[in-house]
Amino acid sequence: MQRLIAQDIAQAMDNASWIRRMFEAGNELRKTLGPDNVFDFSLGNPDVPPPAKARDVLRALADDAVRPCGLGYMPNAGLPAFRDALAAKLTREQGVPLEGRHVIATVGAAGALVAFFRATLERGDEVLVPAPYFVEYGFYCGHFGGVLRPVPMRGPDFALDPEALLAQVTDRTRAILLNSPNNPTGAIYAEPALRALADAVNRLNATRARPLFLLSDEPYRVFAFGAAVPPFLRLSPWAVVLGSFSKSLSLAGERIGYVAVNPALDGADTLLAALTLTNRTLGYVNAPILGQRLALALLDEQVDLALYDARRQAMAAMLAEAGLRFAMPQGAFYFFPEAPGGDDVAYCQRLLRHGAIAVPGRGFGMAGHIRLCCAVPMDSIRRALPAFQAARP
Ligand code: PLP
Repeated sequence: MQRLIAQDIAQAMDNASWIRRMFEAGNELRKTLGPDNVFDFSLGNPDVPPPAKARDVLRALADDAVRPCGLGYMPNAGLPAFRDALAAKLTREQGVPLEGRHVIATVGAAGALVAFFRATLERGDEVLVPAPYFVEYGFYCGHFGGVLRPVPMRGPDFALDPEALLAQVTDRTRAILLNSPNNPTGAIYAEPALRALADAVNRLNATRARPLFLLSDEPYRVFAFGAAVPPFLRLSPWAVVLGSFSKSLSLAGERIGYVAVNPALDGADTLLAALTLTNRTLGYVNAPILGQRLALALLDEQVDLALYDARRQAMAAMLAEAGLRFAMPQGAFYFFPEAPGGDDVAYCQRLLRHGAIAVPGRGFGMAGHIRLCCAVPMDSIRRALPAFQAARP
């Protein structure tokens, strides 16, 4: 057969992500066991409905949308009203005074990361990330010749270890990418550790021709149960925050996110102009218009967090009863327990035979653990106990 696709993509398809693989295994299982007997903890697709106000907003948008250009192109960086309102919200959240021009609307946090890496990475540049980590990061940098360098967080609760990250910084390091609350561990990085990292990066940048960026990927910011999520942008002029409304408003399919740059950065305007260009020329053109208008109207709303917390508690109780060892997640909606017996793939396969779907930790750069998403109905969590008990080695 002719070579239709690039070799690295062919290879990536061969290594199909563990999340997808388990998700597909689950679809097969549903056919044999029946959908009610399959407990699928594989995919982080929020099932909690968006805030009720979304219905009224969408109805009003329907009338407005049919005017000329109601759904047309817009400034590439986003609707001015959305950027202004988002800047005001982020000013409160991040402890830095922001104007609309410091914020760009993007196609989810994913689109924000891709636009950022296109704007800043050169071939061979490295991006350090605490491991375990969200596996798509490797692709986001790899598209532009960047290399993701995972740095294991060895503590029992996967707390941020600034020294471990700083020890890996070289001339090639272009960014340190953090994600808190974290997927897959649920860790929330504490202010002192963030500050220690940022102070060190600020010192390093004083003598670097190409600075080191400090990125905070924050799609789970509102999902904080055990601790508050500290403001990030104020820690460094080189800090950049990337976020979205995928999870906080249950709008993941509407693809609405943002990137915010610290105005104190020398060259902030240049970086923002570059991000506007890459957001456009990567083919996104601009963030979806309905998503921006929906998020603008719902900026002060969020999904029912009590429901997520109740699921977190139920999952913890279920796993403890099944005898699994885990750090209680402080945020997001994932658990990252140790795989009983040590082999994460073997354990996930055993779970599958009993109708429960989990993702091997090696899919997140840390074997020996499994990832479970608890954004699933309470009943599934409770009824999955026998599967977890039966799958023990
Ligand atoms: N970053 C992390 C850590 C995620 O878990 C996800 C989605 O699951 C994303 C980014 C992408 O989110 P979005 O839908 O905002 O693009």
